[in-house]
Parts: sequence; structure tokens; C-alpha cells
Amino acid sequence: ERQKLKRLKSARAVTLDGVPVELQANIELPEDVEQAKENGATGIGLFRSEFLFLNRDELPSEDEQFEAYRQVVRQMKGLPVTIRTLDLGADKHLNGAQRFSTNPALGLRAIRLCLAEPQMFRTQLRAILRASHYGRVRILLPMLSSLSELTQAMHMIEQAKRELADERVKFDPNVQVGGMIEVPAAALMLEAFLRRLHFLSIGTNDLIQYTLAIDRTDDTVAHLYDPLHPAVLYLVARVIRTANRAGVPVAVCGEMAGDVALTRLLLGFGLREFSMHPSNILAVKQQVLRTALSDIAGLTQKMLKVESHEKLLALLERLNA
Ligand code: PEP
Ligand code: MG
Repeated sequence: ERQKLKRLKSARAVTLDGVPVELQANIELPEDVEQAKENGATGIGLFRSEFLFLNRDELPSEDEQFEAYRQVVRQMKGLPVTIRTLDLGADKHLNGAQRFSTNPALGLRAIRLCLAEPQMFRTQLRAILRASHYGRVRILLPMLSSLSELTQAMHMIEQAKRELADERVKFDPNVQVGGMIEVPAAALMLEAFLRRLHFLSIGTNDLIQYTLAIDRTDDTVAHLYDPLHPAVLYLVARVIRTANRAGVPVAVCGEMAGDVALTRLLLGFGLREFSMHPSNILAVKQQVLRTALSDIAGLTQKMLKVESHEKLLALLERLNA
């Protein structure tokens, strides 16, 4: 089966009715690019930059970060590289810098931490902007929940650009800025974010956690963590539809994007960009190649109206048959 999939590496991902679908890779470190390319990724949809910061005593310098980002950008040879700004806190902590938080997932995490530590954020933004000169870099802001966070982050990006310009350091002045939609508040007031962002990426891992109030790291409630919960499907479908109508590119980069059992459902919701662990790309591509959008439209819309888990599973089975 793996051999059969390997042959799909350079095949274009298009549905049976000829609609192209973008299948990109999630990476954690520059070394992962190799696996992304081996599996035919058409871009990096999520570079979890915080992994450069883990298991060490000091923060990586601007130059060290720049080298890491540039390495990825160069290897991708003009394909998009979406660098997510630091998503530290919650389950990912710096050595020594552990802050006490009774509820880390709801605490000083991701964009909140970056805005509270402007020097750290500024250093990363400068490094990303410098790397943008070498290819197609996109900046992705994690865990947005209010517009003021976006406004402050945008302001810091503009400031970093001005500094670099003053220093005559090269960067892409048109670098795109996108936001992760992974807090229900952002999904519910999507229109406000849409108008201010170049692209969106739905982080279903956190969106599920925050919508269902299930700690994604807590084994005692793992059985309740359900991507098919009607409230989750409602939010995911709403974000995709609203973004599509506004003409703003939207991807899913949480685990749902790499689950072949959910490929048709997401296609039916209107999703055309998936980003996932590289090892899932070829199987998802195979599923895309086998799917006619015209066949699945009715069933996927029906799934949005179902309230019971059992009925949803039954419909999902029909969808994938
Ligand atoms: C997500 O929340 O779905 C996501 C992609 O980000 P992470 O898993 O790194 O929180
Ligand atoms: Mg997340």
C-alpha cells in the first residue's frame, strides 16, 4: 500500500470533478522539510517555530532563528512557508522559564505571551522578515481571541519592518500575515479578523479543546475529545464558508486535516487547503483523487444538521463508502 501511495508523490491533488486541492506539511524543525518534500508537500502550511526554543536554557538569537527559517525557505524553493510565531506556554514550556499557571491552556500562551514579552517577539519577527527575502514566507499568528491582539501584533510587524528598512536589511515588504482560528471567540467573530488578515488557518486541535472544554493533554477526558461533535463541525464549517465567501484563503492545520476519514467531510464544507503531518499527505491525496465534490455535497450539508453522535458516524460511513 505504501508503495502504491509513493507513486502519488508528484500527482496533482485534484478531485474527480477537477477541483485542485492544496496539500501542505506541518513541520517542527528544519530537518522535517525533507520528509515534507518526500511526500510531495506543495508548501509548509504550519512551521511550529516554538520547537526551536524547547529543551535549552537560552532563547535562540535573531541570527540563529534567521538561519533556521532561511534553511526551510531555501529548501522549499519558492513554495509557501508559513511560519507560525511562538506558541509557547500551555503544553510547551521553556526550560527554567516555567511560569506557574493553574490552567496553562487558558493562561499566558502563544500570542498572549509574545505580546507580554515584546523583546522576544520582536527578535522573532525580525528573523522571520529577514528570511522572507529568500522565498515565499507567510507569518501566522497563533491563538488570536480578540482584535486588539491582532492590532498589537500587526503594529509590531510594521515596526520590525521599519527597523530593518532603516538598517538596509532586505525583506519581503509584502509578506502575508494570517491568523490561526483556534479559539471559539475568533471563529464566532470571524468577519472582523477576515478583513484584517491575508489568510486563515483553523487549528482544530485547540478549537476542539476550547469549544468542548476538554484539556487536550488530560487522559481522563480524552474519550470526550471529539472532532465530530456537532458544535465543532458547526464552527469549522462556518469558518470555511465565511472565509470562502470573502475570498480569503483558509486552511485546516490541526489533526483533522490529516485524517483520511475526514477528508471528504472537509472538502464538502468547502475546504481546499489542508496542512498535516508529512506522513499523511499521500493517503489524503489518494482520498482527494477518489472524490467527486458533486457526490458529497448533499451528505456533508446533512451532517451539519445532525445532533446525535451515532447518526453522524453512520452518515460519515456513507460519505466515505
Ligand atoms: C491546532 O491547535 O490545531 C494546531 C495546529 O496547533 P498546535 O497543535 O501546535 O496547538
Ligand atoms: Mg493550536
